[in-house]
Amino acid sequence: MIAFRFHPGEKKLFKEEIDRPTAGPNDAILRIKAAGVCHSDLHVLDGEVPFLKNAFTMGHEVCGELVEVGSEAPDTLKKGALYAVHGPNPCGNCLYCRSGRDNLCDSPTRAYIGLGADGGYAEFIKVPARNIVEVPQGVSAEVAAVATDAVLTPWHAFRLANVRQGDTVLAIGLGGLGMNGMQIAHALGAHVIACDMRESSLDMARQLGADEVFHSKELEEKLKGRKVDIVGDFVGRESTFKQAQTLVRPGGTVCAVGLGSLQVPFMPMIVASYEIRVQGAFWGTSTELRDVLRYISEGRIKPQVDTGKIEDVSHWIEELKNGRVKSRMALMPKTAEARKPKAA
Ligand code: NAD
Ligand code: ZN
Ligand code: ZN
Repeated sequence: MIAFRFHPGEKKLFKEEIDRPTAGPNDAILRIKAAGVCHSDLHVLDGEVPFLKNAFTMGHEVCGELVEVGSEAPDTLKKGALYAVHGPNPCGNCLYCRSGRDNLCDSPTRAYIGLGADGGYAEFIKVPARNIVEVPQGVSAEVAAVATDAVLTPWHAFRLANVRQGDTVLAIGLGGLGMNGMQIAHALGAHVIACDMRESSLDMARQLGADEVFHSKELEEKLKGRKVDIVGDFVGRESTFKQAQTLVRPGGTVCAVGLGSLQVPFMPMIVASYEIRVQGAFWGTSTELRDVLRYISEGRIKPQVDTGKIEDVSHWIEELKNGRVKSRMALMPKTAEARKPKAA
């Protein structure tokens, strides 16, 4: 089968012919239906993820049709049904897995899907059967694919930050993650302030129910000294992390989600004096992935997904780098027809 693969030290993907995977006793094989393109793919190709030492197929937001199930896998799995892949690919046995934090699995043998283990820019994928989640009726493959990260990650972050009804939440960076993060905060009953440097993102945020929408250049000026309970920094650059620390209220929480820089300034005079919590957030748990898919099926979060072809993955990675992807791209096999953007 054809797969688009990362090789350590290389800045582009390689189109290669590799063997179609076959299921071991506990595995599932999915025929890829959609694979989302995440900004983390850019960090990988820029060589910013040092733990990636081997070649693998990229694509870590994956949804596919179940075509083969190993002999020991649960017999509740349904061939022909659509499944989303839980990308952290946890072992199921370690202390983190057994205590409901399987996104933090510390098994030495696990590797993240599409970020170490073979991912979704291919025709088929092999995944441990425990790490697939059935997609609810009415949720499309492309939406389910991006749900596995672009929705799951902000969901996990805002759960860790304990976003509650009546809180004011500032979402900085309204791309794949932030556009969903803003909707999640809204669905949890928060007053949402959305911020980006692209006018197109600001327009989309307005349409999707943000209460206030500001360009990043005028954020401080427009807030006029108001502070917020929680900030989601979905960019992770020097300027955004500084904004997050200065705009959060005493005792509030900064969710550090974006990985835009290897280092950002930590301001002890502010963080200590005002007892600000800086909460890191990584991907999400398997339980949260089920919750996220349910919220989407109920129409409470509407991921904005455009579609293209897996064949064109290098083009779409370039488009994302140049800020020309509106929210999220999901790539589909050649046979599936790429469609126009959906209305909000
Ligand atoms: P994206 O490219 O889709 O979106 C980034 C958005 O940030 C764009 O809308 C861009 O215009 C905006 N932006 C850039 N600089 C800005 C600034 N100074 N102020 C305001 N807005 C700004 O990216 P994405 O796929 O949503 O990912 C966002 C970040 O999160 C990336 O660094 C990615 O690697 C990281 N990420 C982290 C996790 C995790 O588990 N922590 C998971 C997935 C992605
Ligand atoms: Zn990602
Ligand atoms: Zn584990």
